[in-house]
Amino acid sequence: MALVTVFTFNPFDENTIVLSSPSGECIIFDPGCYLSKEETELKTFLNDSKLKPVRLINTHAHLDHIYGNDFIHRQYGLLPELHIGELPVLKAAEQIAQMYGVPMSAPSPLPEKYIEDGDIISFGNITLEAIFTPGHSPASLSFYCKEENS
Ligand SMILES: [Zn+2]
Repeated sequence: MALVTVFTFNPFDENTIVLSSPSGECIIFDPGCYLSKEETELKTFLNDSKLKPVRLINTHAHLDHIYGNDFIHRQYGLLPELHIGELPVLKAAEQIAQMYGVPMSAPSPLPEKYIEDGDIISFGNITLEAIFTPGHSPASLSFYCKEENS
């Protein structure tokens, strides 16, 4: 049974989601931690829950969803994965953050792997299917867990 933990981070009240498996592995979706206390909150939760982050996934690359990408990369050595159509959004984020007056402390590292429509993401005993759901941004992804029908 997957466990979903939701954090609300950064001035945009973005939702960061940790999806964890009973095996102790987890995926971090959209780390939006902006303030150092938000980074600490996420890290403390992962430590206390004895969770090992195995993937960092961005549903899309709006800046509120990627503020914490650099932090997660530094802490856990994970590079972000997202749909390749979001790459221009990811690359523009630092400039957009300046415009909004909420600059990024460090830009997101760039992905080495991309997720496509229909890709299956498995970790622990959990399987997710990526679904291409553009609209809110050019190439957003949603994730469907068949076993749990959610
Ligand atoms: Zn967005």
